[in-house]
Amino acid sequence: MGKIPVGILGATGMVGQWFARCLEDHPWFELAVLSASERSAGGVYGDMVKWVADGQMPEAVRKMKVQSSEPAVFADRGVKVLFSALPADRAQVLERQMASEGFSVFSNASAYRMAPDVPILLPEVNAEHISLIERQRTRKESGGYIITNANCTTMGLVIALKPLQDRFGIEDVVVSTYQALSGAGYPGVPAMDISANVIPYIEKEDDKVEMETRKMLGTLGGKGAVRPAPFPVIASCSRVAVRYGHLETAVVRPGGDFDERKVISAFRRFRSRACAGLPTAPEEPIIVREEADRPQPRLDCDAGSPQRARGMSVTVGRIRKFGDRLRFYLLSHNTVRGAAGASILNAEFAKVRGYL
Ligand code: NAP
Repeated sequence: MGKIPVGILGATGMVGQWFARCLEDHPWFELAVLSASERSAGGVYGDMVKWVADGQMPEAVRKMKVQSSEPAVFADRGVKVLFSALPADRAQVLERQMASEGFSVFSNASAYRMAPDVPILLPEVNAEHISLIERQRTRKESGGYIITNANCTTMGLVIALKPLQDRFGIEDVVVSTYQALSGAGYPGVPAMDISANVIPYIEKEDDKVEMETRKMLGTLGGKGAVRPAPFPVIASCSRVAVRYGHLETAVVRPGGDFDERKVISAFRRFRSRACAGLPTAPEEPIIVREEADRPQPRLDCDAGSPQRARGMSVTVGRIRKFGDRLRFYLLSHNTVRGAAGASILNAEFAKVRGYL
């Protein structure tokens, strides 16, 4: 069977570059169209892009022409599956337009994450939420739909919380973050602001982490919408001078009886049946490090195997019980697990569920 042709919206940006990288030699998908704004459209990708993703620009994309982001551009090349790395304001218009023209849109943008009929899908955690797309008007009219993945900070947190929720229940969550520069796109935060500094504010980030976490860990209600998880989440997000990898400290009050040994076992045993056989799924969604000084962005950002799933595992460490509270650190790769890799995994999952 031939590969499925796919396109990228926002291909020249930080996340777009990671899409190009993560789709290289993909066993199911063939990258057929790269698109961006009018600023880049018409140029050759290798000339228009300042490559900042790790490693070399894949040869297959270097000479491809950057296209404008018109539905016809994709349709003419037989592309029905789109990965979106658009800014939220542009995504608001273009993703809906693409879905109404019959495209399957896998989005990184925040524009539709909290829409009641749009899933923030993470197959390891809430595979059943994919059924929300059946409620989208575009799905009924043209077959097109939007599936989002979470904000890059929410993603690692939700994966780590899922086995705790399943095994012990959760009463509340307090999370503090140390987020990499690449999370702000390119060129991102000015060097004068971040050098030798920590910025204890990222616009809208605290609210996104709080709302998205509860939606993702929520349950599908009777009428098909998601009932958010009932526990409060308090997030304090900061930017630090790290290239890749969001580090977070979570303080959780589990509902049931727990100790450090049981928590480590819950993290280590966490597996996803929904992801079995998906090329971008990591063998271990959560890796526990028992060294006193792990996880670290530089050492643990790329965790995950096999090779195609590098950067897809979340690393946890410094697990400690303080009375009725559990404290641990977690680290996830913000542009892989938190963006491009997660969208590709969602598309793989949609394919095996018959939605592509
Ligand atoms: P970015 O580096 O600023 O890239 C934005 C991309 O969108 C560029 O390719 C740009 O093309 C294109 N674009 C801008 N205006 C456009 C328009 N009017 N029409 C068509 N294309 C347009 O941003 P990013 O960091 O990759 O983030 C992309 C999205 O993913 C954002 O919504 C962000 O919030 C989300 N996200 C980012 C991360 C992360 O770690 N960085 C993680 C998760 C989610 P030109 O180059 O031609 O201007």
